[in-house]
Amino acid sequence: LELSDQKILHQLAESIDGKKVYVSANIEFPEDIPVMTKSGADGIGLYRTEFLFLKANHPPSEEEQYEAYRNAAVHAKPHQVVIRTLDLGADKIISYLPWRWMEENPVLGSRGIRVSLKEKEMFKTQLRSILRAAVEGNVAVMFPMITDLTEIIAAKEMIDQTKQELFHQGVPFGDVKCGVMIETPSSCLIAEHIAQTVDFFSIGSNDLIQYTLAVDRMNNNVEYLYQPFHPSVLLLIRMAAEAAHRRNIPIGICGEISSDLYLLPFFLAVGIHRLSMGSVFIPRTKRAIRFLDVDKIKNSLSPLWEAKTSKETFEILKMIAQTYLPSY
Ligand code: PEP
Ligand code: MG
Repeated sequence: LELSDQKILHQLAESIDGKKVYVSANIEFPEDIPVMTKSGADGIGLYRTEFLFLKANHPPSEEEQYEAYRNAAVHAKPHQVVIRTLDLGADKIISYLPWRWMEENPVLGSRGIRVSLKEKEMFKTQLRSILRAAVEGNVAVMFPMITDLTEIIAAKEMIDQTKQELFHQGVPFGDVKCGVMIETPSSCLIAEHIAQTVDFFSIGSNDLIQYTLAVDRMNNNVEYLYQPFHPSVLLLIRMAAEAAHRRNIPIGICGEISSDLYLLPFFLAVGIHRLSMGSVFIPRTKRAIRFLDVDKIKNSLSPLWEAKTSKETFEILKMIAQTYLPSY
């Protein structure tokens, strides 16, 4: 990278027509943090906390978690770190929880927030560490695998209880914004209701595609059906974005497709102005954003909503992307 490029990399990316876009990092392991810092990330948009739980045969202690989250918060400064609460289940399995052995269909079983709401002590320990780490930086908490409003209400009640507990014990804690992953069709369909109870949305497209198309994301036999450009996926993403805008909360995307350059103009045009991705993709994405005119793209999007197949939507989005990003 050229020196001038380096400077631009560490600023917020802005489109030709002045739309500011946050491009943040997805992290999983402690080693991801130095890479994230170099990449020009605007903070951490998705901290997958599973790693801490998968590396041993017992859940991590409050201190261990606190140390990990505090470290992320310090390195994300002055930007935010979005800490996603434990998303166990499906492909991420630990042996020390009993519910696991009962399930024949784990992708549709106990995972994400469902597990946290069953394993309340473990959930509370995680919330305590997150709230304590919030003293050291800009920390947000995010719940995975939401399908129902009552899950969010229950999880937020747990946050309130945990705060009270910390307060009575004289343990310092900070305030956290509270968001949810939009990664099930249900959460898109009731996005308007959900938006009234949370501070932000982040689309988990990996799971959203899986659950919308009924395609196991780990099953090679049906890999050809796993289509990010499927019209139903694009419609659900638009639906969530419109709900977020009506209710005036920010919406981002943090699944693998957040770094796809053919989808980038689409995301910006439907009003998704926060992208979170693997650090290696951040420089390329930030550079590409500077070539896009979001208002113009909005006007060229109408054929997309008439397209009937993934092949058609792909061709339309490819053409739009190539108009603006000829060198990519
Ligand atoms: C997603 O589902 O898109 C996501 C970001 O979460 P994960 O890949 O960890 O399920
Ligand atoms: Mg997910």
